[in-house]
Parts: sequence; C-alpha cells; structure tokens
Amino acid sequence: MAGTLFQLEINPKLPPRLARLEELANNLWYSWDRPTRTLFARLGSKLWGAVGHSPKAFLKRVDQRRLEEAAEDPVFLGALAHVLSAYDTYHDNLRREQGHQLPDGALIAYFCAEFGFHESLPIYSGGLGILAGDHCKTASDMNLPFVGVGLLYRQGYFLQSIDGEGRQHALYNDADFDDLPVTPVAGPGGGDLKVAVRLPGRDVWAKVWKVRVGHVSLYLLDTDLEENSPHDRDITHQLYGGDRTTRIEQEIVLGMGGVRALAALGLKPTVWHINEGHAAFLVLERMRDLIRTGLDFDAALEAVASNTVFTTHTPVPAGHDHFADEMIRRYFEECCHDMGCEVGSLLALGRIDDTPEFNMTGLAIRGSRFQNGVSRIHGDVSAEICRKLWPQIEVDENPMDYVTNGVHVPTFLSDHWHDTFDRVLSPAWRQRLTDAQTWAQVHAIPDHTFWSIRQSIKAEMLYLVRHRITEQYTRNQCSQAHIDRLLQLADAENPNVLTIGFARRFATYKRATLLFRDLELLRRLICNPERPVLFIFAGKAHPADQPGQALIRRVHEVAQMPEFEGHILLVEGYDLRLARRLVSGVDVWLNNPVYPLEASGTSGMKAAMNGVINLSVLDGWWGEGFHQDENGANGWAIKPASRTLDEERRDQEEGRSLYETLQDKVIPLYYARGPMGYSPGWVAMAKRSIATITPRFNSQRMVGEYLHKFYAPADQQWRRKSADDYAAARTLAAWKQKVRLAWPKVRLRRLDTPVKRIPYGASLHFELAVHLDGLAPQDVAVELLLSRPGTDSRTRPPRKLLLEYRGPGEHGDSIFALDFTPDVCGKLDYRLRVYPHHELLTHPFEMGMMLWL
Ligand SMILES: *Cc1c(COP(=O)(O)O)cnc(C)c1O
Repeated sequence: MAGTLFQLEINPKLPPRLARLEELANNLWYSWDRPTRTLFARLGSKLWGAVGHSPKAFLKRVDQRRLEEAAEDPVFLGALAHVLSAYDTYHDNLRREQGHQLPDGALIAYFCAEFGFHESLPIYSGGLGILAGDHCKTASDMNLPFVGVGLLYRQGYFLQSIDGEGRQHALYNDADFDDLPVTPVAGPGGGDLKVAVRLPGRDVWAKVWKVRVGHVSLYLLDTDLEENSPHDRDITHQLYGGDRTTRIEQEIVLGMGGVRALAALGLKPTVWHINEGHAAFLVLERMRDLIRTGLDFDAALEAVASNTVFTTHTPVPAGHDHFADEMIRRYFEECCHDMGCEVGSLLALGRIDDTPEFNMTGLAIRGSRFQNGVSRIHGDVSAEICRKLWPQIEVDENPMDYVTNGVHVPTFLSDHWHDTFDRVLSPAWRQRLTDAQTWAQVHAIPDHTFWSIRQSIKAEMLYLVRHRITEQYTRNQCSQAHIDRLLQLADAENPNVLTIGFARRFATYKRATLLFRDLELLRRLICNPERPVLFIFAGKAHPADQPGQALIRRVHEVAQMPEFEGHILLVEGYDLRLARRLVSGVDVWLNNPVYPLEASGTSGMKAAMNGVINLSVLDGWWGEGFHQDENGANGWAIKPASRTLDEERRDQEEGRSLYETLQDKVIPLYYARGPMGYSPGWVAMAKRSIATITPRFNSQRMVGEYLHKFYAPADQQWRRKSADDYAAARTLAAWKQKVRLAWPKVRLRRLDTPVKRIPYGASLHFELAVHLDGLAPQDVAVELLLSRPGTDSRTRPPRKLLLEYRGPGEHGDSIFALDFTPDVCGKLDYRLRVYPHHELLTHPFEMGMMLWL
C-alpha cells in the first residue's frame, strides 16, 4: 500500500436522553448486572462483540443515527429507565451489613497485583484476579468502607490462539486506556494525580487511575509516563511479564506507590489487606512513614502489623515470591537509610529458611497480625509451610488461619437462574445469599422446569462454543465438513449429550490430561453411541510454562484422534466471558488437581450455583463443599491417593477412580432418562448442588468472614496501638525486645509429685517453678492442657487452665500453681507449658515462643 496510513475515529455524541449511558459505562456494576450489558448490546450486537464487550469502547464507536433512533424508541428508553432505576437503588442503598458496622472512619485498603471483574478490563490472569474482583464487588454489595489498589497494565494477560498443531500462540495487545472503564484522578494542581516511588538512583512516577466498582473505588497505578525513562515506562507494561527486575519494580510500585497514592488521595486506611505476597512492600512504606514521625523500627513494625491482614494463595514453598538478597540491598538501600536501620534488619523481615533469599511471604507475615490460607486444607498446608516463622509453636496452633474462598453470585449466576429465583425463592434472596433455608427452596422448582432451564443455559453455551470452534478451525484451514464432524455432539438445538467441562489455567498440577491415561478405556466410556459424552477443554498456559503448553498440545492431539472426533473440544481464548458460559452451561465440572496443590479453586463454586455437578478431587474448596451434604449427594469426589505413593502410582489410582466414577455413576445417572425425557436422579443431585454449596461458597460469606475475623479486630487494634502517639505500639515493641533476650534462658520445673490415679471428687495440685531470667511473672502464661487420649486436637481442642502465680521460689524462680478437681471420669492426658503473655498481643502465640515441660 502506497502512502502513509493515517487513522481517525469519529466519536458520537450521546443524545441528552441517553446521557447516563456514560455513567453506566464507567462503573463496573455492569460486570454483574446483565440487563445493563444487554442494553449496550441492543444498540448494536455486532459492534458490542467487536469491542470485546467494553461499554466505554462501544460508546466511542456506535453510530450516531443508532443513538438517535434509540433516544426515540420507547422500548429502549423503557429498558434504560429500568436499568437506571436498579442502578440508583443500588447506589442509594447505604445500609451496611447489619450488626457488623465498623466504626466511623474505618477504611479497608485491599492490595492485589491483578483484578478480574470483566473481560473489558483485562488486568487478570486467573483465579487470584477473579477472586480479588469478586472481593471488591462484594465489598460494594455490603457497603463496606473499602478501596482497592492495583496496577494498570498496558498489556493485560495475553490473548490466546491455538493452531492446527495444538500450539498455543500468545498475542499481546496494547490497551487503549480510553477504551477501559478507568478515569485519571485529578491532582491537586489540576493535571493528573501522580506519585513518585524511589528506585535505585531515580524517582519513578506513577499516574493514578480510578475504577468505579459499584460503591467502591479501585485505584490503579501506571508508570507509562513521559517523565519516566523508557525502562521505567515499561514497569507496568505487562501483567506477570518481564524478568526479576520487572517483578521487583512492579511490586515496589504496587506496594509502596500504592501507599503513597492513598495518602495523596487523602485516604487513611485503618485496615490493610495484602492479597498474596506481591503487595507486601506496603509494609515497608508504612513503616518508613511512621519512623519519620519518630517511631523506632520495632515500634513501627508493631504498629503496621497490628492492622495488616495477609492472605496467601500458594500451596508450595517454591511458589512464594522471593528475591535475591543482593537485589533487596540495591533496591532498599535508600529506604533503609530513611528508616535508620541496617539493611540486615530489613532482610531479616523476609527470611524464612536459612537460604539467602528475601521471601515476600516472610515479609507479609512479619508485617501482619492476621494471616490466612484460602480453604481449610490450604490453611493447614500454609501453617506447615510457614511454621518456621513461629518456631516453637505446634503447627495446628500457629496463627495461620483460613477463610475459604467464595464467588460473586450475581456475576456468575446465569440470568436464567436470576429470573427463576425471582419467581421461586423468597423475594429477598439476593440479600440472603448465605442463608441455607433460602437456597433449600430450589427443591420446590418442578423437576421438568429445572431441567428445561438447564437445557436453555446449556444451549447458549453450546452456541458460543460452536461459534468459537468454527472461527478457530476455519482460521486453522479446516474444511467445513471437518468442522461439522467436530461439532456433531455440540448441538445447541438438541443439547442432550452429557457435557463435561474442564477450563482453567493449564498449570501442570491441575493435570488436564489425567483423563487420557487410558485411551482405550476412555473410548469405551465416552464413544458409546447410546450414551455419548462430550468434553470441553479451555484455558491458557503461561507463555513461559513449557510443560503447561505441552498439556494443551496433548489435549489437541487426543481431540484429533479419529475415534475421539467430536467428543473432545479444545476452545481457545479462555477469559471471563467464556468462563461464565462454561461454568453455567456444562452438565459436569471436572477438576482433578494434585492434592494439596489446589489452594482453593473457585470455578467449581461457580458451576455448583448454576446446577452444574462437580466431579473433583477432594482438594481445596471441594474438601469442604462435598461434605456440606451429609449424604454426599451434591456431587462426586475423587479421594486423593496416599501421599506416600510416587507420582505415577498416584496418577494411576486417581485416574482409575475418575474412570470408575464416570462409568458407574456419572454416565448412568445422566442417561437414566425417565418418561419426561430427563433423569430425575440427575435433577435431584443438581438441586442439591445449588442448595448445599451456594449458601456457603459465595463471596458474601467470604467477605463477611474477613470482616468478623480480621477487618473489625484489625481496625480495633489500630485504634489501640496508634492512640497517644503510638504509645501501645512502643510499649509492645519494647516488651517483645525484653522477652526475646530473656527467653532462651527460661526454664520450667515441676515441683509437685505427679499422681496417676485419684478418686472422683478429689483435687489435684500442680506446682511449677519457672526460671524467668529477669522477666516478671505477669510476662508469661503457664498453662495446663487436658484432653482425652487419642482425640484430634483440632476437632476437639484440649481444655486449657492457667496456673496462678503464687510467689517467689528458690534460686530466683517464680512459683505457679493450680488446684483443680476434674469433673469427669476416665483416662486423661495432660501437658504443661509456658509462653510469653501481654495483653497487647493480637494473637497469643504471635511471638512464636513456647516451652513445654
Ligand atoms: C473462576 C476462574 C478461574 C479460576 O478457576 P479454577 O478452576 O479455580 O482455577 C480462572 N479463570 C477464569 C476466567 C475464571 O473465571
């Protein structure tokens, strides 16, 4: 083509009657309010698809005449009025979750490296981001005082295509921020608000953008500014892109720049939530601020930790973000100078083992007093991984807690169910998402109605899958005849084939190809013309993850085998849109990770609330979800093989369990069609799936738990520790210092003679001499633990009784004693211990010190 190509875009002007479309396009409320999205689609469904469902991009390109027509169209105006009325009701509703009101002035700041709200804001890669998005949406639903902080990447996660050989191609697109639902924040002097962070030898500027998520604001930082060098402009270029240098610089911008951005906005959080270690540098920035006002290092750490919450999502030590010490030295030299500390003190905050690495989880835990994993199993795994941070505390007592993840119901519930629940459940069901009785009402939906709703949702899913597969295979030069054969079972007109979905990141531990261990058996199971089965796979592998990409090739390869043609589909470009359709549209949701590596997993929750039945390894959330139903009738469970087996044997056993479940349970139940054309047993199980799983595994329950367990206590701790110029933080820091010095010499000695047998009603006397090495008797707690032999201390915690200080003993020891009359008969076990105690501690064992007799 000769000549220069100039580009031009002509933006329409909104007619006054449609003026508020602009507001709707700039609030991610549309990401969970389907009528709002439908409104845009009605103005031009082709353009709506072409702009990737971004209302903002849509309003820039829609035809002026179309807008003017719509402004005169009573049907469109009616729909608009309807949407606006719902929008206004939502935003006028200032009722906080009843009974759990945080005090005035409370503000929760939530930091995360990725956020997944909707496909129109591509700054997420997978489950972590979607969870963070759901957390913000729910904070808005619950009217919490809440802000989010993240990064605005020029290139979010890549677009995926899969070629005719099953190879993944990653396409990175530069986003035009004008097309995203983000707005620059105005600075004090008029222009854009920018904050600087210090990197070695230079300041890097970051512009602050605001995203509206219902009531809640999310602030995103972006370094692509003229003030910055080309290198620094690229810091926020790509989500999880670049090398270690990029990563540390991104994390400094997120953690430290984020703190500065909130300060520049005049916001004063009283609770800080670090969602996964990437954001943990916020601890250092906050400490530096406090040290500047006159606190010392330890008191500043005490103050900062008192209102910091840390959530870990990683189930293997190697997955925790870490940097070489040398890198930390270089990046934090000036910070240490500002903080008046040796770099060694800072490095010590990130030390977990004796390896010369700075671990972000170490920093996050030392800088927080509230820590959790994201399911019961993962809480235990995390307590184990992090045990060295509390060296003398037994794993089941250390502070690592758990809050099981949940998903945002309005976002992931199909609109067919929205409409049905409006008719069938109690009218306030949207406000009662965590109420089991409300959800039990799904049993009242007539079976045939339930089935036909499922069929409609499935047909819509198949329609999208057909469309995507056709595009994908046409591009890969397949003939129409071939495509028709591939799509023979994916028939939206006749959605009667058992359809099983597997879609998530192609990470190796998720074992996408476990199903293919025995192809001959698989063929017999799924290619029976009487009872055919269709599998739909989708997901991205990180471009640097070669084994993950090999999994994609293997799925492609099996899908191409003549005997499996049409039975296995691999759909490219997994994103939130495809996710919403798949999780709601298939019949069964399959997940077979390696135990215990699925920290939580959330896609199965999205499936369950839509009446899709889970078939999953009992790992992550399913370890709890399956047991929500005491009859085990809300899905199917694959029991993890013993962890002592090698990888091959484990895969073999779990693979066999998967085949057996498909053969004996899933396929027969689905095809046990009654006279009405559906399987009553299937419908019963699907209903139980909704009824037992939805009330617990939704994000309202999750954020509610964060609120009670962490946010409210953290807010209170902050008030306490920061009052009177941080007097309590200083006191606690000084006390801990004293205890740390004395503790190695503390000793316990028993003075009473243990008795082995007493009659009922007799009293026991326990007496201990504690050598305190200069500590005062009130600096410690001396405790007796009583339990029944052989009981699990987690399910039945031991009874705990404190011994009293009775005065000084010999050699400067302190005497502690207890007289106690057991009120039970039979055998008892008991143990005695001492640990540091101060009323300002947040967790009784946060110092990690304890001595047993
Ligand atoms: C829910 C979701 C995930 C998480 O899936 P898991 O099976 O929990 O790993 C990933 N990607 C998208 C787009 C999702 O919606």
